[in-house]
Amino acid sequence: MLTKAIETIERTVLHLEPQRSVRFINLLPPLAVEKMRRARFRRTLRLAGERSVFYREAFKRHNIDITRIEHPSQLGDFYTTGEDLRVHGSEAFLTGQPDTAFETTGTTSPVPKRIFFSNRELEEMGRCSAVGLYRLGIRPEDRIFSAYDSSFWVSPVVLKMAVQFLNCFHVEAGKIPPSEFYERARPYQPNIIFGEPSWLIRLSEIAEQRGIWPLKLMFGGGENMAEEARILVENIWNAPLYLSYGQTESFGTLAAECERKDGYHRNDLFFWFETPEVDTNGFGELVYTTLVRDVMPLIRYRSTDLTKLIEDPCPCGFFVKRMAKVRARCDEMVVCGMGNVGPWVFEDLLRGIGGISGDWQAGVKHEAGSDLIELRVELTDGLGPNDVENLVRANLRQNFSDFAKNLDMKLYELRIVGLKPGALRGDARKIKRVVDERQFTARPLILACHDELASTANNG
Ligand SMILES: [Zn+2]
Repeated sequence: MLTKAIETIERTVLHLEPQRSVRFINLLPPLAVEKMRRARFRRTLRLAGERSVFYREAFKRHNIDITRIEHPSQLGDFYTTGEDLRVHGSEAFLTGQPDTAFETTGTTSPVPKRIFFSNRELEEMGRCSAVGLYRLGIRPEDRIFSAYDSSFWVSPVVLKMAVQFLNCFHVEAGKIPPSEFYERARPYQPNIIFGEPSWLIRLSEIAEQRGIWPLKLMFGGGENMAEEARILVENIWNAPLYLSYGQTESFGTLAAECERKDGYHRNDLFFWFETPEVDTNGFGELVYTTLVRDVMPLIRYRSTDLTKLIEDPCPCGFFVKRMAKVRARCDEMVVCGMGNVGPWVFEDLLRGIGGISGDWQAGVKHEAGSDLIELRVELTDGLGPNDVENLVRANLRQNFSDFAKNLDMKLYELRIVGLKPGALRGDARKIKRVVDERQFTARPLILACHDELASTANNG
């Protein structure tokens, strides 16, 4: 009864203008929020168990009686993975009639994951995002320009939905070269810019040369960003750059920064976050359950991202809890200026090239303000690094148009380093194929967590 009342209040509150939503939503007592989350969790489990072919069979296989489950942790070692989506097909997860779909590619496979949504979900996510953006200071008089990639990607659509509730002027430029964006956006004088962090860095470098205009804020989504790069961008524009964390599977934003930029505020009303296994520093793989999705709910979805849930209240006063900035991917995926890259990308790039051994390694570095992919190969019969580079670049253009586009936009550089046969492997049994060598803050911790989790994953 209480839960129903709270749900009605929440829905009503989210239908108010963002500024009134913010005020009311903060008044919800913690116990009531917890009760509502549990009710939503049970509803999601029931829906999945009744309508999704995948979950019906998986629950049976794991001997899970969903009527007895009150909390995600009671599901024990039951998880949903990206591989499940690929192997079983997204249709096996459907519990209702979808209106649209978005895609995301991972690291371990070039096969995209397809995620379905309803228009109702789209609208709810838009309302919720509007509340978050309002808290960052976005108001109806602002002019928003977005350079999010619109090809199969969820972010520009979520932004568009959010802007409707904020009543701002809004232009979707798409992910065009930053120099073109600069020239075409400038006459409009947008004071808020959305884009992927590596793209925002390139745009800022151009603005530093050609001149800036007054900005209220920038908002980055889709990839991680080193703090030093953020400071560089903020100093150029003299405006703050906020980051968000999300996945296509989660329908965009799972969490976003407040003006303090000290961790991301989680969307606890729409997701149940867990880190079931943590290291001594509290870092573990983020696992989330969707709480308000009715077309393709995900139960305990393994994000493969490493973070820490922060339970202390944020000094900003917003009631929802936080999570730390994502430190690393649990697999070998690296998010950089090239895009989301994993071993399979480089395997494809090197395929069919003679004169190199089967051993190779891709190091992601940061040099002269941009990401550098250093592809290390072992040369076996007189081919030089330049020959290999030409072949790799040709493969890139032919097979990876997105990565080629990012290279043209100078979001990263590509360099081939030739080594003697046997140089990469040494005595090691396995070679770490993709290595993130950029200097993020607290680097040793990242690597420690990363290795620990990787070994757990390999054993399990
Ligand atoms: Zn805060």
